[in-house]
Amino acid sequence: MPKFREIKDWAPGYLNVAPQHITIMAACLACGEKREFDRTLVPTEMRQRLISEIEQHLKCAACGAKAGKLRFGSYMEED
Ligand SMILES: [Zn+2]
Repeated sequence: MPKFREIKDWAPGYLNVAPQHITIMAACLACGEKREFDRTLVPTEMRQRLISEIEQHLKCAACGAKAGKLRFGSYMEED
């Protein structure tokens, strides 16, 4: 599985300004679960929202906590 590399100290602010080539990962601060965040599943009216507002709606599929954070980055090429 390719390794995800987060862009440090950067977030687009709003979801709809995140470039399409950026991979978004949803991370749970409670249990450490990480999975890719599919922005196409976000309802249209939510796409105009701040990242921080969208994070409030994230619910972890593994532990049920609402402690999600969105990480922005890309997969590294495998050697
Ligand atoms: Zn969790």
